[in-house]
Amino acid sequence: VLTCQGVRKEFGGRVVLDGLDLTVDEHQVVALIGASGSGKSTLLRCVNLLEELDDGTITLDGEEISDPRVDPDRVRRRIGMVFQSYNLFPHLSVLENVTLAPRRVHRRARADAEAQARELLARVGLADRADAYPDRLSGGQQQRVAIVRALANSPRLMLLDEVTSALDPELVGEVLAMIRDLKADGMTMVLATHEMGFAREVADQVCFLDAGRVVEAGPPARVFGEPTQPRTRQFLRRII
Ligand code: ATP
Ligand code: MG
Repeated sequence: VLTCQGVRKEFGGRVVLDGLDLTVDEHQVVALIGASGSGKSTLLRCVNLLEELDDGTITLDGEEISDPRVDPDRVRRRIGMVFQSYNLFPHLSVLENVTLAPRRVHRRARADAEAQARELLARVGLADRADAYPDRLSGGQQQRVAIVRALANSPRLMLLDEVTSALDPELVGEVLAMIRDLKADGMTMVLATHEMGFAREVADQVCFLDAGRVVEAGPPARVFGEPTQPRTRQFLRRII
C-alpha cells in the first residue's frame, strides 16, 4: 500500500529524516517507536503531504504521491490521520464533525453522510453522543470521535500519531480497543506510539527509528525480544 524510499527531511539545516525506508503492506499494522525527536511524527506528516520532502519518494497504491505535481487534497482523501490532540471542531456537534469532510470534500448528500456517521458512531458505542458538542465528551470519547471522523472518508490508510498520549490512563483502553477492532477489520495503519505493550500486541511490524532512520524493523516478538541493533537495545532498556 505504502512505500517510503530514501525519505529525507530537514528543518533549517537539521536533518530529521535521513534517507528513511519503510514499506507497509495491505492490512498491515506498522508501529513506529523511538525516542522523542527521532522523526516519527515528521514521517507521518510527510506521508500525509503536510511536509514537503527534501529527497526520496513516497508511493501510495503505486502512485508517487511525493511528486510535487500531485494534488495533496486528493491524496489526503485516501488517508485518515489522527493526532494526539483530537482537533475536533468545538463549534460543531459530533455528527457535524464526522460528516463535514464527507459532505464538503466527497460531496456526499447529507442524509447519506449522516447515516454512515451514525453507523460508525454506533460501532464504537457513541451513538447516543451524536448531537453532543466536543466539550461535553471525555478525552477518550473525543479521540474515538476523531478516529471515526477519519474513518468516514473510507481511507486506504490510517496514520495515528500518539493517539492515546493525551488521555488519562483509564481512558486509554477504550481507544486502544477501537484500534484493535480496526485491525480486525483489515485496516492498514501506521501508528507512532510510546506504548510498547500496545505496539507489541497490535503491530505486525515494529520499526525502531533513531535519528531519522529505521534502525531496526521486524515482528514485535523479535524486535522486543531479540533486538539485534545496539541502539534498539539501549532504547528498550531505558524505557522498560
Ligand atoms: P515525539 O516522540 O516527541 O513525538 P517524534 O519522533 O515524533 O518525537 P518529530 O516530531 O518528528 O519527532 O521531530 C523530529 C525533530 O524534528 C525534532 O527535533 C523536532 O524539533 C524537529 N521538528 C519537527 N517539526 C519541525 C518544524 N516544523 N520545524 C522545525 N523543526 C521541526
Ligand atoms: Mg511525535
